[in-house]
Amino acid sequence: MALVTHLGFPRIGAKRELKRAVEDYWQGGLAAEALQDIARDLRLRHWRLQREAGVDLPPSNDFSLYDQVLDAAFCVDAVPERYRALADADPLAGYFALARGHQRGGLDLRALEMTKWFDTNYHYLVPELHAGQRFRLRDDKPVREYLEAKAAGIETRPVLIGPVTLLWLSKTVDGSDRFDLLDALLPVYAELLRRLHDAGAGWVQVDEPVLVLDLDDRVRDACARAYAALAQAPRPKLLLATYFGALGDNLPLAAGLPVDGLHVDLARAPEQLGEVLAALPAGRVFSAGLVNGRNVWRTHPDNALVLARYAREAVGDERLWLAPSCSLLHVPVDTAHETGLDEEFRGWLAFAKQKLEELRLLADALDDEGAAADALAQARARVESRRRSPRVHRPEVAARLQGLGEVRAQRQSPYPRRAELQQEALGLPSFPTTTIGSFPQTHEVRQARARHRAGKLSDADYQAFLEAETARCVRIQEELGLDMLVHGEFERNDMVEYFGEQLDGFAFTRNGWVQSYGSRCVKPPVIYGDVVRPAPMTVRWSAYAQSLTGRPMKGMLTGPVTILQWSFVRDDQPRAETCRQIALALRDEVQDLEAAGIRAIQIDEPALREGLPLRRADWAAYLDWAVESFRLSASGVRDETQIHTHMCYSEFNDIIEAVAAMDADAISIETSRSRMELLDAFVRFRYPNGIGPGVYDIHSPRVPDAGEMIALLEKARAVIPQAQLWVNPDCGLKTRAWPETRAALEAMVAAARALRTQTAAPA
Ligand code: GLN
Ligand code: ZN
Repeated sequence: MALVTHLGFPRIGAKRELKRAVEDYWQGGLAAEALQDIARDLRLRHWRLQREAGVDLPPSNDFSLYDQVLDAAFCVDAVPERYRALADADPLAGYFALARGHQRGGLDLRALEMTKWFDTNYHYLVPELHAGQRFRLRDDKPVREYLEAKAAGIETRPVLIGPVTLLWLSKTVDGSDRFDLLDALLPVYAELLRRLHDAGAGWVQVDEPVLVLDLDDRVRDACARAYAALAQAPRPKLLLATYFGALGDNLPLAAGLPVDGLHVDLARAPEQLGEVLAALPAGRVFSAGLVNGRNVWRTHPDNALVLARYAREAVGDERLWLAPSCSLLHVPVDTAHETGLDEEFRGWLAFAKQKLEELRLLADALDDEGAAADALAQARARVESRRRSPRVHRPEVAARLQGLGEVRAQRQSPYPRRAELQQEALGLPSFPTTTIGSFPQTHEVRQARARHRAGKLSDADYQAFLEAETARCVRIQEELGLDMLVHGEFERNDMVEYFGEQLDGFAFTRNGWVQSYGSRCVKPPVIYGDVVRPAPMTVRWSAYAQSLTGRPMKGMLTGPVTILQWSFVRDDQPRAETCRQIALALRDEVQDLEAAGIRAIQIDEPALREGLPLRRADWAAYLDWAVESFRLSASGVRDETQIHTHMCYSEFNDIIEAVAAMDADAISIETSRSRMELLDAFVRFRYPNGIGPGVYDIHSPRVPDAGEMIALLEKARAVIPQAQLWVNPDCGLKTRAWPETRAALEAMVAAARALRTQTAAPA
């Protein structure tokens, strides 16, 4: 009978238990041992849940206190020099210092860079390596967690990030080639495999998602060398796991590696099934990623069974494993907690637990279709009920999109003309300062929102509270001397949820949490139907904030691509189609803001880059509709109205032309954590519009001084004409506290002023 397994389980807990515990520990409210106890309880609870759902062989070491890439780096001692003393003295403190930076007891350690995990909204920490780097087994977490499960009577398959993927995800700080370090790294993997074997592990899962990317010969060669070296006995059997796409041109390489099993993603790339099976050497285990680990819809059992039967023909019952397409890290835990959704709608959804149950059903049906008939019929009925539901289809949306021909996704005049008109209207100084939108979401803000939601704070009192917060925020920005203000976003829980809640076609979960980075979780909306904006969404707050100040107040919206990217989207129409529907709704909002007297409107697109397909051949098509959607939302205003956008988290160098094609009047962009690597792009490409390369990292509580920011701005000025430069942090300030926010912004304004005097001084 086919074996049911999976590649990784969400670790944060159905109620975000891990988040709470980790944050308590950071704040000093929880001892290290207590944190470890909570973490262990969660792991055990999750293994039991998996067993109950019918999983035959669950993974272990899929848990992490912060991030699995950080775990892997820590495990092989890829710990930069600056953290070593701390990591040696207090491993847990050292581990978290790598993730979050550390400013205490005279130490001032910068955190590792953080970036997106492939094309997901999960962020990992980028290991920092250098030529001549040595590795050793610093931490035996994979062995410990394997033994922990075993002690509880659960046999698991430890998960490791493969050596090639680990190097691929890392960066060197000295410009050396990180793949030169492979030979130094492999003995640590070999030792780890030996220790896992000695501990009794029969299988180890080695994740090499890089195998679905465009790879150059060096990386391919690294794969071949790595697995040849790791093939040495004694070791557990190896399941090579690939996901997020098709193996494509890497198939011969992947199939030829001396491992014992291969997992492929059949949700993203079902079409690869035939060729993978044809290429797979006899005797290998084939793990079929049948159930989508990236989305929340129920799987159509008949479609999945067609693939499963086809695979069984090729490899036989004994060597067929059924699994989700990728780790379940990207979906919430259990729909049973969604008591706020009606029965029918809940039946359309599958979270991690339901996905495992779906796999159990598929395996049972494969074995004896008759015995599984009732369950199959029920599964079919759920999928069919969504397909036919009148809640999904709104004919007027399709009609408006049809008529789109007349709507030009283009501003009235080109940027230089707009810039003149906007300067007349706004009268900003050179090096204008602004922020990205949100200000600290303090305990009081979150508490007021929670009390309002629970009905313990009246609408009127909540509105009054938000107005007071907004007014205070406006006053503080004026005191700090910022040039373009924001209202602070106190009324928003989350930059996508806030909009989704006001749009038709979106549904919300109560506990649909997904880890974004570290202890930060998001609750992605579920876009299930055609998108309609029944009423203005933000005008009230922007107009109120503008009424409090003479300085320009930026309206603040989340862009169509980001709303799409950070939601669970429908799988019954192309993503581009859903994106255009959202863009149209936002276009109406932009026009309403302008009509209410807002002179600058920011449409955030932090997720534009992450939506980029993993294979270069697919980029152009995506960028085409993504850029068009942004322009559709932004282009309905007069030339005098200044459109801003914001992007963060990852490298934009390779899509800078598309970013320019969005034609925003100003873009604020993440650069400080990657130490302005972005600026390299401007050496070859002259970015035409206004741009604010973030001058400090808001992801860490560390407060930089003005000198540091001046240095970054001087770097920027060397490649970007001064007239185009804006001065801003690299992201919103909602996760920060007020004291550090004020201190950092004070330094930022001082930096801008210093540059103004410097450049105004007579030559
Ligand atoms: N305007 C948003 C904020 O400041 C942007 C957040 C983001 O880019 N992730 O919070
Ligand atoms: Zn940002």
